[in-house]
Amino acid sequence: MIVFNMRCSAQHLFEGWFRSQEDYLSQRERELVACPACGSSSVERLLSAPRLNLAAAAPADAPPPAGAEVAAAERLRGLRALLARAEDVGENFAEEARRMHYEEIPARSIRGQASAREFVELVEEGITALPLPPGVPGEGELN
Ligand SMILES: [Zn+2]
Repeated sequence: MIVFNMRCSAQHLFEGWFRSQEDYLSQRERELVACPACGSSSVERLLSAPRLNLAAAAPADAPPPAGAEVAAAERLRGLRALLARAEDVGENFAEEARRMHYEEIPARSIRGQASAREFVELVEEGITALPLPPGVPGEGELN
């Protein structure tokens, strides 16, 4: 026997007992499934409790949803940490970045000044450079 939670068009909830899924479908087709309270054969099968539980269960390793503000603060913190480790190469930023990109010198974290034109040239050459958003202390802002 299987038990389905059923609901009629008048919102009565009841249990329907059937020999099998096929038996349920067969009875349903012949409109033999009727609400015990009002006799309506306009009934629908509700999701069984186990299935509902499955659908509601969140994966155990899912991270808690982070607010946009938290994410922004995390990014800013990461950026500050990056800046603290980066060597300040000042006006030589574009030159140093380019030499690292072409492996003339070992790669390292650097910061410094670049003009808007230099920055565009770096990006066009496929060199990753990050213009700092306002509010981040440092000397790396675009001139
Ligand atoms: Zn009913």
